[in-house]
Amino acid sequence: MRTARRVSLIVEGIGTYAITGSASGMGLHTARRLRADGHRVIGVDLRDADVIADLSEPHGRRAAADAVLASAGGVLDGAVLAAGLGPGSGGDRSRLIAQVNFLGVVEPLTAWRPALAAADRAKVVVIASNSASTVPLVPRRTINALLAHDPDKAVRSLRLLGERGSALMYAASKIAVSRWVRRHSVTRDWAGAGIRLNALAPGAVMTPLLEAQLAEPLEGKAVRRFPIPVGGFGAADQLAEWITFMLSDAADFLCGSVIFVDGGTDAFFRPADWPDSVPLRALPRYLWRFARGTETG
Ligand code: NAD
Repeated sequence: MRTARRVSLIVEGIGTYAITGSASGMGLHTARRLRADGHRVIGVDLRDADVIADLSEPHGRRAAADAVLASAGGVLDGAVLAAGLGPGSGGDRSRLIAQVNFLGVVEPLTAWRPALAAADRAKVVVIASNSASTVPLVPRRTINALLAHDPDKAVRSLRLLGERGSALMYAASKIAVSRWVRRHSVTRDWAGAGIRLNALAPGAVMTPLLEAQLAEPLEGKAVRRFPIPVGGFGAADQLAEWITFMLSDAADFLCGSVIFVDGGTDAFFRPADWPDSVPLRALPRYLWRFARGTETG
């Protein structure tokens, strides 16, 4: 069974994958890589994609989810959620980040869950960021508002910061999607339905998103100064290899992980913050969950 599956996915190439953000950067490189291996990719983006949709709008997210389901015939072997916006200027930037980077991930994914469950051991990779662990002082209320699917409240929570709030909204969106992945991945609906849900947390990767950040005077200076122990920036095709690996049979035992591929920045700033033992304050919840066992059996 395992061998047959491997042949069908890797050699015969009959897997069907949905990729948001397929027109550029890491999404584009992943789409190319999967297609080169013979898989079918249903790309979603604002342009140059199989499904043209604006994930910053509720109807765009719904239309994208429906179009992918119709095109896939109700069965998806995997999904990559790579559409996203970086921090930047413009009055509406924080709202767009909340809409695309959080709701544009979790709403389509929730709609695709039955199609992923219908496949044999489907894999999902959500593109988070090392901003989730390396940007200081991200307000908890912004993260909670996103997790409550309330982008207006999230935007209000940062309004005093003006345009500078977009960097915090970006980090908040990446913390929120990472938490969403970890919470949902282990449940009956996901792990119990055979779906492996994980996140990749890249550091600075040379894509049009990073180029736009580098072109902004203040933001660009901060990005160039940000410590990366291995030096330089990541390459989109390298990250696509990681994503493809996380979609492969090798990821059958990977569940709820946030994989940092960031040249060492997270380790540089947070060497002792994790892994760490369960603290005393978290022990009651830990023991309760231990006694209850997993929902997935
Ligand atoms: P990119 O700009 O090259 O690609 C992002 C894609 O998302 C684009 O094709 C864009 O059109 C699409 N997109 C944006 N808004 C959309 C919308 N409203 N509806 C539909 N599609 C939309 O960027 P990238 O660097 O490849 O980023 C991919 C993911 O990786 C993003 O989630 C980003 O936050 C994350 N990330 C990037 C870096 C980096 O340094 N490049 C680092 C960490 C995380």
